[in-house]
Amino acid sequence: SHTVDGVVIQGTGGIWDIRTDRGATLSASMRGRLKHEALAGLKLAVGDRVTCAWDNRDPGSWTIAAIQERRSKLARRAPSGARGERVVVANLDQVLVVFAAARPEPHPRMLDRFLVIAEANGLAARIVVNKCDLVPPASARALFAEHVAAGYPVHYTSVITGEGLDELRAELQDRCSALSGPSGVGKSSLMNHLFPGLNLRTAAISDSVNKGRHTTVGAVLHPLPGGGYLADTPGLREVGLWGIDPGDIAHCFPEFVPLLGNCRFQDCIHTVEPGCAIREALEAGTVTRGRYESYVKLREELAGFQEN
Ligand code: GDP
Ligand code: ZN
Repeated sequence: SHTVDGVVIQGTGGIWDIRTDRGATLSASMRGRLKHEALAGLKLAVGDRVTCAWDNRDPGSWTIAAIQERRSKLARRAPSGARGERVVVANLDQVLVVFAAARPEPHPRMLDRFLVIAEANGLAARIVVNKCDLVPPASARALFAEHVAAGYPVHYTSVITGEGLDELRAELQDRCSALSGPSGVGKSSLMNHLFPGLNLRTAAISDSVNKGRHTTVGAVLHPLPGGGYLADTPGLREVGLWGIDPGDIAHCFPEFVPLLGNCRFQDCIHTVEPGCAIREALEAGTVTRGRYESYVKLREELAGFQEN
């Protein structure tokens, strides 16, 4: 029978909207073996690449015939002890963490939390400092200098002056990206400037394929004009730090990673041990105090989860 390939852009009550590779949208459900596998835990998620088959039974309908292997997943893990995870978005290429240079005040330690969640999910992260029109350029650049030093790409933007918007648009084009960050930093303003007509939040339920269905909960993928997708997710905070092993958290600080083999003790947790390469780097100034504090704090938090 007739088949088409596409990407799952949203799902409600067992019906999935698929954006086909030719740019059409169709609704499909799962049947047969795939449905049994879904019930057994291999759940379909927004972002999954699927093959849909036209089922001729009257009335005809699209069914999901195959799910392709995932390249990546942003997943909410169950609290420690419990098994299982829920995939929020599959096949993300990157996560954009947006903060404002001012109004609201940026919090570098809160940014570290977002970055650790991205790293724990194996996702590349990109930092956006928006509202750069509100502070002198040098102050904006000083805000996340420690993250530049840690190796993260940082974009300085303003929807008022247009600064940085072309560069940011180019990074979003042809990729699947998720947007995160505190409210009020300008996420929707940015996206509406970068891709006019995208209309986040309302676009998801305006399409005719949605008629008569209940409102979508969970992530939605918006196709970007010119190629690529933007995920409107419940956010990285919703995904949280659950289920990350405290022993793995040092690996979520990219600037620590090349140093980890140099600690005297293999099970070093980089707090009080002699011969710790991370604390030596801290003294030498190649690891910043702020990033190190985030490491200590997040590790303690995770160790606390585990004990409870
Ligand atoms: P969101 O909650 O992150 O989606 O933030 P919004 O896009 O709703 O923006 C929050 C407020 O910040 C709105 O009043 C915007 O007009 C304002 N805003 C957004 N981007 C900028 C910017 O680059 N510069 C300035 N000065 N204000 C901005
Ligand atoms: Zn160490």
